[in-house]
Amino acid sequence: METITQTMNDAQIDNLRKRYASAHVCKTPPYARWQIKLSDCTITAYNSGKVVFQGEGAAIHAPHVDQVSRPVNKLTSSKKSDHPSSIVYPHIGSDEVGTGDYFGPVCVCAALVRESDLPLLEKLAVQDSKQINDAMIRKCAPQLMEQLTYSLLILDNQKYNLIHSTNNMNMIKAKLHNKAYLNLLSKMERLPGAIYLDQFTPETLYYRYLKGEAEIVRGIHFETKAENKFPAVACGSIIARYAFLKAMDDMEKRYDFTFPKGAGKQVDAAIREFRKRFDERELPFVAKLHFANTEKSK
Ligand code: MG
Repeated sequence: METITQTMNDAQIDNLRKRYASAHVCKTPPYARWQIKLSDCTITAYNSGKVVFQGEGAAIHAPHVDQVSRPVNKLTSSKKSDHPSSIVYPHIGSDEVGTGDYFGPVCVCAALVRESDLPLLEKLAVQDSKQINDAMIRKCAPQLMEQLTYSLLILDNQKYNLIHSTNNMNMIKAKLHNKAYLNLLSKMERLPGAIYLDQFTPETLYYRYLKGEAEIVRGIHFETKAENKFPAVACGSIIARYAFLKAMDDMEKRYDFTFPKGAGKQVDAAIREFRKRFDERELPFVAKLHFANTEKSK
């Protein structure tokens, strides 16, 4: 079990409590102001200003001190920063995986990278997940997930097929990215210096897709090939890719079946084989049905 101890001032402790306002308050231990139990972490705030995060999710819930104490640029919809030299820290970046794959979920991850994370990123030679092989993803991602604050969303096939009947793929992506930002921002004490999105649709369309959402994160920098420019996008991309691989592993175990990636001929052959071995009604649980492959393979 992981334990993280941080020192915080009164305001920071109050903010932390507010962030988990709905969490259950346990019997408070001696010398503590309060203690709350979350599903993956117990947080105890002591009178001394010491705050202890204990449990599997300690790293996710502990707001990092450098981020709390460093002055951070206010998040604005300021000019695009086209050059990596203008990267500000901490920053958030997000990317998605699985949208081009017939089989498996869509995974979106928004990650936060602080300057203090850079040595780990350098050690792991973090780069775009498409340029790293699966073995490296499996090695790197757990280390990033241990150190970074992030939000990972996995849309399984069953839900995806339901949602796709009323939302196109880009709309689904926009909603997932927006949700990931909201989750991540709720874990942070201060706004990040910038938010970078690996652009999959023009900015105006992105916000049009989000019309009607209860909360919309604005001031995002839309960048193509952002995974090569911004460390947080590369990290988001690696974590999302890892989640996709794990989901595919689980599916392969559950069905004792090999699900090829992508949407090519191999996939058509696999669909035919899948239909032979399982009921057609099982397909919505493993595939994105609107892909042409579904009809092509009949
Ligand atoms: Mg992308």
